[in-house]
Amino acid sequence: MSAILLAGATVITVASHRPRDERVDILVVDGTIAEIGRDITAPATTEVVDLTGRIIAPGLVNAHLHTWQAALRFAGADWTLPEYLARMHGEVAHRYTPDDMRIGTASGATAQIDAGVTTIGDWCHNCLTHDHAVAAIEGLVESGIRAVFLHGTPHGVRDRPHDIAMFDRLMSGPIAAGPLLTGGLAIKGPQLSSATTAVADMTAARDRGVVVTMHQSNGIPGDAWDVVDRHRLWGPRVNIVHGTQIPTPLVRRLLDRGVTFTSTPENELGQGHRSDIVAEVVAAGGSPSLGTDGDMFVSGDVRIAARMALSRQRATEHEDARRDTGMIAHSTPTGTADALRWATIEGARALGLADTVGTVEVGKRADLVVIDATGVSMWPHHDPVAAALHAHSGAVEAVLVEGRWRKRDHALVGVDVADLQAQAWRSGSRLIDLVRADGLHRRVRRRVVQKVVNRRFSGPRET
Ligand SMILES: [Zn+2]
Repeated sequence: MSAILLAGATVITVASHRPRDERVDILVVDGTIAEIGRDITAPATTEVVDLTGRIIAPGLVNAHLHTWQAALRFAGADWTLPEYLARMHGEVAHRYTPDDMRIGTASGATAQIDAGVTTIGDWCHNCLTHDHAVAAIEGLVESGIRAVFLHGTPHGVRDRPHDIAMFDRLMSGPIAAGPLLTGGLAIKGPQLSSATTAVADMTAARDRGVVVTMHQSNGIPGDAWDVVDRHRLWGPRVNIVHGTQIPTPLVRRLLDRGVTFTSTPENELGQGHRSDIVAEVVAAGGSPSLGTDGDMFVSGDVRIAARMALSRQRATEHEDARRDTGMIAHSTPTGTADALRWATIEGARALGLADTVGTVEVGKRADLVVIDATGVSMWPHHDPVAAALHAHSGAVEAVLVEGRWRKRDHALVGVDVADLQAQAWRSGSRLIDLVRADGLHRRVRRRVVQKVVNRRFSGPRET
């Protein structure tokens, strides 16, 4: 038996039945939260860790991340969505080797742990072969993160049902072998595939009881969405990423069915996905989960996504008040605790893990983040929840995943960071040369691919 007593910290449980924050200790036994309270009598062999002055919160959940792209960090920071699709998916993705997949995924997942994220929805839509998928899963295992490996197929392939045989092989093989892994399907969905394909894919997910997730932006949902509805395939294990052009009545209907929404506000706003859907989800009585989409564009810090979503939501509340009363809102109903909830338990819910992680509660797995709240940018503070939300990644002192230290005293544990960075540099350097290659052949091909992508985004002008 292994036992750790985390003592002296201020704890934010995010559990609805507990205070906003509290001074309690946490006993972790064999990876599970065994007790929360004061004066805990711990077994004699317990490792007691004094965390006075720190804040403990549930490990963050980044519900949507294309982790495999991390070795190309910031290469697309100035790209629009069509540029990203043409350059990354049109020119580079098919040149990934299995080892590129492993290295990118290990690098991206490790960076997530460093920032206090303990669970990711690893939206892996470059499973060119079975070996590519296996290598990406190896990268997750190397990092020590908890992940839902969301098996996806590359962009640009013709409309056909998901490669379920490959998915099943992964589920019974490397995913089953990884104690911190579960699997799900990352599909094109009714927005990007035919109704027949969407129904086949979502039926396959339902039959297997796994999460199925899809992108939606740039294009109003068409008939295929109704076909999925008629097959009764919208449900709690269905996740929509972005959802930025779904009409309000349909948002409400999907929420009624239990569908979850994941917003990635930073790149949604910056790349042309349109405004995020957070306000509509909240207005309908729902709660969004959050992601960062890709290290190619933004930092990968899900706290930034949470803060952006909160600000956007409050802007909507002020606008509503102005319209109704001529004044800004006297107070805003959405607070920092809501934003922290979106980045923890709501992410866990979207990934089908709400019973396992996302809050600090007895019986849940001990996925925890320890924030050093004593630094000059953190102390003094007068609201631990706001401090946890506004903390920068450097304030993440420690991270436990299933009760195992993955970061301690501000240093990652169990990973050779220099070696991982050297691998990522080698892989990223080869790939970035493909992104930036500029011969005649490249220029012609680039123009053709961009034209094809642009056609997808063209529609009537809006007034
Ligand atoms: Zn995405």
